[in-house]
Amino acid sequence: MWQLFRRLLSVPVALGFSVHAFVRFSWSDLAGWALYVLAGMGLWTLFEYAMHRWLYHRIVFFKRYHDAHHVTPDVYIGAPPIIGTGLIVLVTMAPLAVAAPLAASGVTVGMLGGYAAYMIIHHICHFSTPARGTYLYRARLRHAVHHYSHDEHNFGVSTAFWDRVFGTHRAGQRRFIDRHAPSGPSSQGTVSSPQP
Ligand SMILES: [Zn+2]
Ligand SMILES: [Zn+2]
Repeated sequence: MWQLFRRLLSVPVALGFSVHAFVRFSWSDLAGWALYVLAGMGLWTLFEYAMHRWLYHRIVFFKRYHDAHHVTPDVYIGAPPIIGTGLIVLVTMAPLAVAAPLAASGVTVGMLGGYAAYMIIHHICHFSTPARGTYLYRARLRHAVHHYSHDEHNFGVSTAFWDRVFGTHRAGQRRFIDRHAPSGPSSQGTVSSPQP
């Protein structure tokens, strides 16, 4: 579990931006800010899908590291959280900070929140056994299909929405999930890669 907590740098950063927003913007502006947060969370799911499909599975430099995660899912393959978090701030906050500060703050907080949720859900997919019928069980089943059967399907971890939009969704049977019984935290290792 400590392995996971160490990767959630985006949470305190998102909280910092949130506190800043509550101090800087009026209460009426904060209603709009909250909508931008939701938009940022939605944008994250597209970002997550695109990174996984077109970066980790296509670009040789990233694929090398991502393949290692496919082979040994118990080993954490990921960049230091500061890179993923910094990248989000750079691409969402920086371009809009002056022209549209409300949108910049809201979208950034939403993206950072989505990134943290993705990290937690991905961790659960490999190290927990959620109850059948729950959202997390479906996420784990989708991801098991991607890992053990059809790696050109189910690129989304947080949601199947973009897989359905782009035609890469594939339903799975329980046998896929049974192939990877969760391991204890002792088996977790850390391998650094450029993956946010
Ligand atoms: Zn993959
Ligand atoms: Zn995985």
